[in-house]
Amino acid sequence: MLIPMGNFLALIEELKASHTNHGVPHSPNPKELDRHLLCPQCHHNMDTHYYGGPGNIVIDDCSRCFLNWLDHGELMRIVEAPDRSYGEEYGDYHGADRER
Ligand SMILES: [Zn+2]
Repeated sequence: MLIPMGNFLALIEELKASHTNHGVPHSPNPKELDRHLLCPQCHHNMDTHYYGGPGNIVIDDCSRCFLNWLDHGELMRIVEAPDRSYGEEYGDYHGADRER
């Protein structure tokens, strides 16, 4: 699903509020970083990196269109993840970019 970056955090907050928190952290899967997606809007390569918030998921985003791409399962992994590290880890949001 395609989510405008400006709506991303609000959407997660909204889903969290209506979702029972299981508190089960998901293990990161490095293989997910190997995927290459094209932005459905501008057809350039999307930037694949770990999402800095809870859930240990990999998301793709397009810095041209300010869009995040993630599938429904990934979104729910963020929603179901424990809340506590949300603020602390957000500073690493662009950390994966340095490797390139
Ligand atoms: Zn784009």
